[in-house]
Amino acid sequence: MDVEEVIDKMLKTSRNDMAYAVEGLQPEQLAMVSSVLMFRAALYAELAAYADYRGGCGCGDHGHEEALQRAHGHMRLVRRTLGFSIP
Ligand SMILES: [Zn+2]
Repeated sequence: MDVEEVIDKMLKTSRNDMAYAVEGLQPEQLAMVSSVLMFRAALYAELAAYADYRGGCGCGDHGHEEALQRAHGHMRLVRRTLGFSIP
């Protein structure tokens, strides 16, 4: 199994056909796909927050330092929400 291929298939498949994307995978493989996606969800939240605080929020650039701090906070929030033991 190629984790990236499975993730790509999941992203491109309609939610109603999601079963097809994970068909035949073993529990350990599904766990690996899940952990990669969870890690990325937190990473993407961090990057999104950074972009927002650099001006994407619509109220101007908050500067690199504040954006970094906020980005870290968002990443921790998402990790906590997803149930990571070490946020
Ligand atoms: Zn703002």
